[in-house]
Amino acid sequence: MLALWLALLAQDDPLVFHERASGMRVSLPADSWKLRTRDFKLNWYGTRCEIESSDGAVKGLLYASVAGWNVRALATWREKGLRGTAGTDELTVDRDEWAARDRGEWLRREFRLVFRGTPFRYVDLHFARGRHNVEWVLWVKEDEWEARREEMRRVSRAAKFVGAWTCPGCGDSGMASPNECEDCGAVGVVGHEALRNLAAKYEIQIVADPAKVYPVKCSTGNVITAEKSTDRLVSDYCDRLARELGRYPEALLRRLALERIVLVQNVRMNGNKVGAVTDHERDTMHLEVRDGRENALFFEETIHHELFHVLDVRDDGSSTADAEWEKLNPAGFRYDPKIKASGRFEDDLQGFLNTYSQTAVGEDKAEVYGQSVVRGKALAKRASRDAVIARKIARVRELVERYEPALDEKFWKAVGVE
Ligand SMILES: [Zn+2]
Ligand SMILES: [Zn+2]
Repeated sequence: MLALWLALLAQDDPLVFHERASGMRVSLPADSWKLRTRDFKLNWYGTRCEIESSDGAVKGLLYASVAGWNVRALATWREKGLRGTAGTDELTVDRDEWAARDRGEWLRREFRLVFRGTPFRYVDLHFARGRHNVEWVLWVKEDEWEARREEMRRVSRAAKFVGAWTCPGCGDSGMASPNECEDCGAVGVVGHEALRNLAAKYEIQIVADPAKVYPVKCSTGNVITAEKSTDRLVSDYCDRLARELGRYPEALLRRLALERIVLVQNVRMNGNKVGAVTDHERDTMHLEVRDGRENALFFEETIHHELFHVLDVRDDGSSTADAEWEKLNPAGFRYDPKIKASGRFEDDLQGFLNTYSQTAVGEDKAEVYGQSVVRGKALAKRASRDAVIARKIARVRELVERYEPALDEKFWKAVGVE
């Protein structure tokens, strides 16, 4: 009797798959679906789980990555990939549907794919929030499509983003909200009211006590280190950070969905002092709150500079390559990461704001952007006698407005450029 009762209970319990690293949770009726979390059979790189209807007709999987792309870019990338796969005869997109949800961007695309002569129908859900990219895709042979599509759409809609923050206190990942860790209790939030409110609104985790954050080992081999600062320095910095982030339209901060900002001192990359660094893999800005505070606008410029790096990744997946931008440079110029560089504004360096801008294309762009926000008038003057700088300012504005239309002329007027 007990055994039967347990079996019945198990049938009513949905199959749940929760991928903590991406924050994605899917739930399926257990009586009609099977779930695999290893020994994958469908051969999609990046698979986190595979599903199959009990009769085997509908197959699907959850794919997750950390690329920081927007959903449109994801859908396009997948489409190109499938078109380029050996065996694909034809691919037609039927419809794109934007799902309105409170967190992140969701795009559900239905398409028809003929593979080695057999037509299939797909329901492909793309999700993007900050660095997180997820695809929840289902497919069936075309002759079953009519009978199965409502069920497939239901299963597609069953995917939810339930949070994927990492705890700075215990290192646990997959927290449901920026400041609540199930393992070690609440994560300390900054005392600064304006910044705390701003962070809560955009679900940004602000860390001033980085117990388990350092050292950060990036997959590139870079190692980021820093240490806890004093309450006073953090509080002074919070004033500036709240003010600078407060200059942005809401739409931009929502779209960026930055995951974490760490306020620390002695920030170093591979042992070398840096004013700040952004780790795209963890979507974390490490901001120096002590050294450099006496330099006018240095902290302010750095905040916008780092924010641009995040935007630069989000818009096309890369902040290190930009062939179009390189064409703006004086003929024959090459970026060189090894030059002795300084962030000091140089008035007569043709085409560049400082020698730091000459180290890498991403830094050049971030400098033009950051200086545009904090020293707009000085930059405009500079542009009037340096055509390369003028073109770069125009280009950087075009890039950010393309990413978020709210960064338009009105925004630049409000920051005091015009
Ligand atoms: Zn914790
Ligand atoms: Zn930079």
